[in-house]
Amino acid sequence: MGQYVAPIRDMQFVLHEFLKVEEELKSLPDYAEVDADIINQVLEEGGKFTAEVLFPLNHSGDREGCKHDAATHTVTTPKGFKEAYKQYVEAGWGALACDPQYGGQGLPVVLNNSFYEMLNSANQAWTMYPGLSHGAYECLKEHGTDHQKEVYLPKLVSGEWTGTMCLTEPHCGTDLGMLRSKALPQEDGSWLITGNKIFISAGEHDMAENILHLVLARVPDAPEGSKGISLFLVPKFLPKADGSVGERNPITCGAIEEKMGIHGNSTCQMNLDGARGWIIGQPNKGLNAMFVFMNAARLGVGMQSLGLTEIAYQNALIYAKDRIQMRSLSGVKNPEMPADPIIVHPDVRRMLLTGKAYAEGARAFTSYVALQIDRELHHPDEEVRKEAADEVALLTPVIKAFITDNAWIATSEAMQVFGGHGYISEWGMEQYVRDARINLIYEGTNTIQSLDLLGRKILGDNGAKLRKFGEKIKAFVEDNGTDEAMSEFVTPLGDLGDKVTKLTMEIGMKAFQNPDEVGAACVPYLRVVGHMVYSYFFAQMAKIALAKEDSGDNFYKAKLATARFYFARLQPETATLIRQARSGSANLMALDADLF
Ligand SMILES: Cc1cc2nc3c(=O)[nH]c(=O)nc-3n(C[C@H](O)[C@H](O)[C@H](O)COP(=O)(O)OP(=O)(O)OC[C@H]3O[C@@H](n4cnc5c(N)ncnc54)[C@H](O)[C@@H]3O)c2cc1C
Repeated sequence: MGQYVAPIRDMQFVLHEFLKVEEELKSLPDYAEVDADIINQVLEEGGKFTAEVLFPLNHSGDREGCKHDAATHTVTTPKGFKEAYKQYVEAGWGALACDPQYGGQGLPVVLNNSFYEMLNSANQAWTMYPGLSHGAYECLKEHGTDHQKEVYLPKLVSGEWTGTMCLTEPHCGTDLGMLRSKALPQEDGSWLITGNKIFISAGEHDMAENILHLVLARVPDAPEGSKGISLFLVPKFLPKADGSVGERNPITCGAIEEKMGIHGNSTCQMNLDGARGWIIGQPNKGLNAMFVFMNAARLGVGMQSLGLTEIAYQNALIYAKDRIQMRSLSGVKNPEMPADPIIVHPDVRRMLLTGKAYAEGARAFTSYVALQIDRELHHPDEEVRKEAADEVALLTPVIKAFITDNAWIATSEAMQVFGGHGYISEWGMEQYVRDARINLIYEGTNTIQSLDLLGRKILGDNGAKLRKFGEKIKAFVEDNGTDEAMSEFVTPLGDLGDKVTKLTMEIGMKAFQNPDEVGAACVPYLRVVGHMVYSYFFAQMAKIALAKEDSGDNFYKAKLATARFYFARLQPETATLIRQARSGSANLMALDADLF
């Protein structure tokens, strides 16, 4: 059933050569001790754990799925999931990038990021259980009271308890302003919450002794819409004073969903029948607090798709070297066999390189943003923290939508490399395609990410954040513009940067006349911005590779070839995307709904 080998060489290239993380981390006092040895050791051990413990459960977990028992409201996860989670907790993996004050290991986000890529390559469905706990940890750490932090954070950090995000209700997913769950205040300061939540990932399972649900609900007399939403902490079992689990809280799983992919993760209908909870942050400011969780989760979904792109590519590559079929157009390559391996065929190479380029682009992109998060949280200079925070805000919707769209393409191409065998479940390739599909939908659909990028993050601040990022690109283009060897990378990068500036101004002007112009342009626009980011990163990586092309290490030759493929075959789609984004809203809005 295929194989997984963590791409440690490329991770090391991104961390040590592209981002020079050791130097960067030295400017963050909390991480000054983190050196290359520590980083490499975590990568090695993480690679072993994910390949040996989690990957073997991926296909079986998909086949078996989760089981719900309506009488007891319990959910059983696939065979081996619980034991793997125990190993994960015992090894302290969940605590890697958490605050030592709560039992964490205090390592940087950028390192945890690489580990999450491995987890998701090995088993996305399994990874969602600890992944959601980490989002809950971030949210509670930023908005919880001291008491809440003291009681709950050590349990989340150790992994003894897991977390969920309970936002969606049957009548509202995107438009959370319509949610109806209600919270009634109690004399002891707690709240009793009643309502129905749907599609709650990891809402019920058998892997941990307690589950902390972060639930959105309305307090009495709350204003209508999104300004009237509050956030509550609702444990499955109420904690006793000594930290052990006590009384069962009436927040129960009524059913689990049958779905297209991620079968190993329970997607639960959760019923709250006067469940006891405690408010996180201020009443009616819950969406604001929940955004910490949602942003972490959006980056996490990007990581899911990077993981799937990598594993699908790896397995397609093995198959393409092994499967023999037809002869090479340019003459027999393998005379001792009745046919040549399919990797000789140009279009098979196109499919493989698509996966390779999208994996390497996403690895550089997500690692870069993770390092910006470390700077945002830990840099001693407030100005640097603010700049990093702005960049993370700008790039988060691009990570979520661009990487997940690309993974949908890349996993499908990887499956295609297998021909009919890709469609047969035994080979495992069709699972990657199915698992990848949800990533375009949850955590705010990719359309919503595109609206967030263009409407809020770019036009909403008159392009200030985008300009700042654009200045970095301009500086790189200026610094390298006269280097002939770099012109094949720098010229298309500079050209695309200029086009993005013009396109943004044009849409901004049109949006003054008609706000639908933003909705009509945003999806192709986000893809164009995604390509601008990848062009910038591939150009930088190509520069490093050019300098080491003759070092005898073939890694750099491969990196250059991938960058060249990216600029020749993937980036040019921006021409079409820009035409689409510029075409305006009339071609979408002219048709009366009755005439569809
Ligand atoms: C497997 C799975 C796991 C999930 N896990 C969780 C979880 O853990 N917690 C949780 O709270 N939720 C979870 N969800 C819910 C998920 O986040 C929502 O399904 C998603 O946000 C979309 O909401 P919806 O399904 O109600 O679609 P709708 O909001 O009804 O949207 C339908 C379509 O309309 C489009 N649309 C809506 N508004 C606009 C607009 N203004 N402009 C343009 N297009 C628009 C959407 O993009 C979408 O294509 C999960 C869902 C699934 C399937």
